[in-house]
Amino acid sequence: MLTGYRPTGRLTLGHWFGNLLNMREMQEEYEAYYFVADWHALTSDWQDTSAVRRFTEEMVLDWLAAGIDPEKATIYRQSDVPEVAELTLYLSMVTPMSWLERVPSYKEQREQISDKDLGNVGFFLYPLMQAADITIVKADLVPVGEDQAPHLELTREIVRRFNGTYGELLVEPQAVIPKEGARVPGTDGRKMSKSYGNAIYLSESAEETTAKVRGMVTDPARKLKTDPGNPDICPLHQIHRLVGDPAVVAEFDRCCRVAECGCVAHKVKMAEDLNAYLAEFRERRAELAAQRNLAWDVLQAGAARIRPAIDELMGAVREAMHVDAPVLR
Ligand code: SF4
Repeated sequence: MLTGYRPTGRLTLGHWFGNLLNMREMQEEYEAYYFVADWHALTSDWQDTSAVRRFTEEMVLDWLAAGIDPEKATIYRQSDVPEVAELTLYLSMVTPMSWLERVPSYKEQREQISDKDLGNVGFFLYPLMQAADITIVKADLVPVGEDQAPHLELTREIVRRFNGTYGELLVEPQAVIPKEGARVPGTDGRKMSKSYGNAIYLSESAEETTAKVRGMVTDPARKLKTDPGNPDICPLHQIHRLVGDPAVVAEFDRCCRVAECGCVAHKVKMAEDLNAYLAEFRERRAELAAQRNLAWDVLQAGAARIRPAIDELMGAVREAMHVDAPVLR
């Protein structure tokens, strides 16, 4: 089972509930491969790559502090497997351009993202590179959300075409529908995202979190403490439900609806509970960050672990495509 994430920033509370908890469970159930997709970060952020290495390290530390265990899951960096680029090239030979042009998320992102120049070939090729990421480790299962399903279907089509041309070398992956993570609102009530500037970061300090919670949006219709509120549409309450003691959360739910308590008190308690919830993670992360080179050592060990299988597969691919060295007599 393979999944990868682009190192484009520190991980947030949204990532924690959206995928980290799932990754932790999946490492128990599957032979898991978690990779840092640093080349994928370049496809969209090629104009400024200065933070890629730092975010790679931060992401691995976040993973480890969250309980992703490098003994159970193989953690590696995409660029430590240069054959991913080679396999992308080979796959490009069997892939019609029209297959890439019709990938819905490619079109959507070209239309929606205006602050980045996505007219580059690298970005156009990213679904192909994903196909190489998946097939190079012979991943037979890939967790996919709804928006990623067409990508996996594309990989399957490419694999069938490749195998039909050169022999049964690549494994056709199947989709695993991941358990749906909780949706975490950002401090402004929109989906939590670093690009909206509304994120609570896992690795920030308790003081930073408290300040953000203090400024959080609540039920917008509740202007005064004497107005009854609706916790169901209150972003602060939605986060409290995820991290607080259920009895305490239920009491805030009740007293809000009958205007017996105010938002200021709720913010104070929610910040306290959120910080308590993240305390163990933060302590562990600080310990891990103090170990020099830890993230890089983990990445290197992961790359070394998959090396024999990569060599074997790529040897077979080169031979099948007649681009290996001839046997000299
Ligand atoms: S009292 Fe709590 S639940 Fe109600 S609107 Fe204020 S912050 Fe939200």
